[in-house]
Amino acid sequence: MIQLDIFIHLTIAKDTNIKTICKRVEVIILGRPKGAKNKPKNIPKGRPVGVKHVSTNTEVSKKICTACGKLQTSKNFYNTPSVLFKHDGLVCICKDCVGLLFDSYMRKHDSYKKSMYYTCRKLDIPFSMSCYNGGESHAQKADWAIWQGYMKQLNSFRDNNGYGMCFDDSDDLVDDNEICDSLLADSEIDASMKDFKVTPELIINGRICLNVIFCF
Ligand SMILES: [Zn+2]
Repeated sequence: MIQLDIFIHLTIAKDTNIKTICKRVEVIILGRPKGAKNKPKNIPKGRPVGVKHVSTNTEVSKKICTACGKLQTSKNFYNTPSVLFKHDGLVCICKDCVGLLFDSYMRKHDSYKKSMYYTCRKLDIPFSMSCYNGGESHAQKADWAIWQGYMKQLNSFRDNNGYGMCFDDSDDLVDDNEICDSLLADSEIDASMKDFKVTPELIINGRICLNVIFCF
């Protein structure tokens, strides 16, 4: 639909035989002249020299901690190769919240090693005794908390440090009595079963039967 002002221009041009149509109207009515380019000339391309690029994509560099809910830069999260966090390769809770998690285990177990073990289990990161020893050394030298030293050691050399990718790769700690005792205490074994013994009365037709209903 042609606007009224364009219609007036065309009328004047017809009566006076003078070309009064502006360039924009001429293009609309007659089309672009042959050989003319769409883009205007002499407009500088690209970023001016000396002007730094500022990213507007804040989603890449920031992340919400699932524990405290704060939006924080990626520097406030530890790296992890766990498949649970492969979207961005970062642990789901921020460094401060890792410390709070570790402290909560300390209050419960009163053991640095055990608290680190349970923190790793919660975050799906590997627990390694050699990593723990290295982390302990870091913590002493830099006056860090033990969990900070552990995470520093865990993230050194990335995938080539031999500590594993996730908690599945952890040391099983069979030689750690504290952890083994704790796991036994935490298990839901019925106390009455601890004194269970196989007596001759329970053996029927060569089979151990705990309930006579099943022994026919
Ligand atoms: Zn947090």
